[in-house]
Amino acid sequence: MSTLREDLDAGGDPRLAELSASLAAVRERIAEGARAAGRDPAEATLIAVTKTYPAADVVRLARLGVTDIGENRDQEAAPKAAETAAVGASVRWHFVGRLQRNKCRSVARYADVVHTVDSVRLAGALAAAAATERVEPLEVLVQVSIDDDESRGGISQAGLPAVVAAVVTASSLRLRGVMAVAPMSWSPTEAFGQLADIASRLRAEHPAATMVSAGMSGDLEAALACGATHLRIGSALLGKRDSLR
Ligand SMILES: *Cc1c(COP(=O)(O)O)cnc(C)c1O
Repeated sequence: MSTLREDLDAGGDPRLAELSASLAAVRERIAEGARAAGRDPAEATLIAVTKTYPAADVVRLARLGVTDIGENRDQEAAPKAAETAAVGASVRWHFVGRLQRNKCRSVARYADVVHTVDSVRLAGALAAAAATERVEPLEVLVQVSIDDDESRGGISQAGLPAVVAAVVTASSLRLRGVMAVAPMSWSPTEAFGQLADIASRLRAEHPAATMVSAGMSGDLEAALACGATHLRIGSALLGKRDSLR
């Protein structure tokens, strides 16, 4: 097995060329989607979701100018964040997966933003973890379940105010906005349209909650049309994953 540094120093680095090409294609989709929605593409931040791909790819993406990185499992993200830091690459880590309370302390050490706070208990555990593990508050998005099916992550719209209150009362957390995944059986436009309504109501009460995390490889155009500020892109950038993760 080669080391991270050897991989990156490999002559020519075909993987860097591959990522550069897919990044250009994704940037073009974002530019086109923003144009169609009458928006400035600069309003949408690209988060590269690097789950199942190695730290070397994170470093390559950083070299290509993508410095917002998403991961969905702490077991994978914690060592990847350490490896990335060890070679001197500086990126912002977005935790976008389901978060168990016993992982909060670990996530609070390396994450810059957690997109998936979806219960009062989780907000409490993350607040306690952030208070002991960090100096700066941890930025938090509340994950909303658009179809109110909480089994797949996200809080129902009825439960949202309590989770928001739990985040804003914690001095170690900073409410930054909302996140959603379009339910399988919904049109993404309908789902993200609902999310946009929820986001604007939240912003009316909490002006700093400006982030709308929506849109993946398959539905980024719909998310852009509905005001997404952060796109979470995995396979279109890094390639198809073996597993269903
Ligand atoms: C994997 C993942 C993504 C990226 O999905 P792609 O379809 O590969 O772009 C986005 N958001 C979350 C929460 C994910 O787990």
